Amino acid sequence: MKKLFLALLILCLFICGCSKKEKPKDDLTKITERNELIVGVRDDTMPFGFRDKTGNLVGLDIDLAKIIAKNVVGNENKIKFVPVTASNRIEKLSSGEVDILIATMSITDQRQQILYFSSPYYIAGQAILTKKSNNATGLRDFKGKKLIVVFGSTSERNLKTNVPEVEVIGFKTYTEAYNALKSGKADGIVSDDTILIGYALNDTTLKILPKRYSQEPYAIAFRKEKESERLLERVNYIIDNMESTGKLRKLQEKWGIKQ
Ligand code: GLU
Repeated sequence: MKKLFLALLILCLFICGCSKKEKPKDDLTKITERNELIVGVRDDTMPFGFRDKTGNLVGLDIDLAKIIAKNVVGNENKIKFVPVTASNRIEKLSSGEVDILIATMSITDQRQQILYFSSPYYIAGQAILTKKSNNATGLRDFKGKKLIVVFGSTSERNLKTNVPEVEVIGFKTYTEAYNALKSGKADGIVSDDTILIGYALNDTTLKILPKRYSQEPYAIAFRKEKESERLLERVNYIIDNMESTGKLRKLQEKWGIKQ
């Protein structure tokens, strides 16, 4: 009888053990076990994420990714960079293809419904890049004209909702947007001043108009789920620490965009 009871008890414990559901691992654990941080970055937004002459990804967002990798996996080179565009970045994060996005991404109310954002690490503003020969001084001078935006960017949304009298042409990348402006397909590009400045500095036929049309607080984006929360906390700790020790300022200085 005793033996039967013992056998039943073992069987019961075995069944309970098998049916016990494994708790899903949180992102921080997954990354440390994988020993690699997978980051979605831009490769056409100088000086945040772009390619140097040898084709390597460089920029403020890239440096930030390396600082986070050093803290999280102990080595700044244990990173896989996945180039993303403004229109596919949320999809790449939601599908799990990347752990986080460091991709000139502004915090907006709409995006906060589906994503977590870190503390901001830079504040840009929307501006217009146009040809030096253009006499326009602000948005209203583009009435009946064509303006270029990059799909999935905040400028696309702002322009389409707030300036209906302008014809908006969209492209997937800034390289395509720049080429379209150069070839006269449109009269200007609307985007973050920080991204447009790179083009204005490298091309003396272009200028940025002085007005700014929005505030764009750049932050790191995470999936909005329980599993991301520890990683978010860690990243916020890193950014807040960089802010209070002046390291963030130094990094902005390095890339010529100190605020
Ligand atoms: N910061 C803006 C955004 O998050 C535009 C820059 C970009 O193309 O990423 O949409």
